[in-house]
Amino acid sequence: LYLTVEVGLGGVLVIDGVPAVGGSGAGGEYGHMPFGDRSRRCPCGARGCWDNEVDGRALARHLGVAPPDDPRAFAVEVLERAERGGEADAAAAVRRVAEALASGVAGLVNAHDPDVVTLGGLAPLIRAAAQDDFDAAYLDGLMEFRRADPIPLRAASLGDDSALIGAAAAGLDVVLSEAGLDEWAADFERAAVRG
Ligand SMILES: [Zn+2]
Repeated sequence: LYLTVEVGLGGVLVIDGVPAVGGSGAGGEYGHMPFGDRSRRCPCGARGCWDNEVDGRALARHLGVAPPDDPRAFAVEVLERAERGGEADAAAAVRRVAEALASGVAGLVNAHDPDVVTLGGLAPLIRAAAQDDFDAAYLDGLMEFRRADPIPLRAASLGDDSALIGAAAAGLDVVLSEAGLDEWAADFERAAVRG
């Protein structure tokens, strides 16, 4: 299971190397599961979305400041303030977001039983900035039988270019599939016939 936090949260379940994108291709909207506050209406139209608890908008709310124009940049700034120490309000806001993120991850682990959860975007930074609180909330959200040997959480390794690299790899997968190679060979033959 891959989960990434930027503005809100997205992700995908990968089964045998293939992303499970659902019947219409719109699967993986994990941020719009109702792990959040039901008194809040999400910009997506649904109520109580997890999205609104795990990013820069949530940090701003916890800090009592206006919604930021750039929630991602704001989150990075608050994470840095929390890690520098000496700013109790920033640290407390990051802890709340870390707990909201971790308990949702645990819920998805309960649901999907993945081999591993990879955290991308801001998610590994949020975990690192409040590691004890994050890990405690993760364990606390797991069904008891999973706690002795919890499914590992790992930071994604491709960094900020991961979406770009994934798109390129997906394109290559199409071109280098049997059907893609057949099409290339047919093009080549048609070009040869034309001389
Ligand atoms: Zn939503």
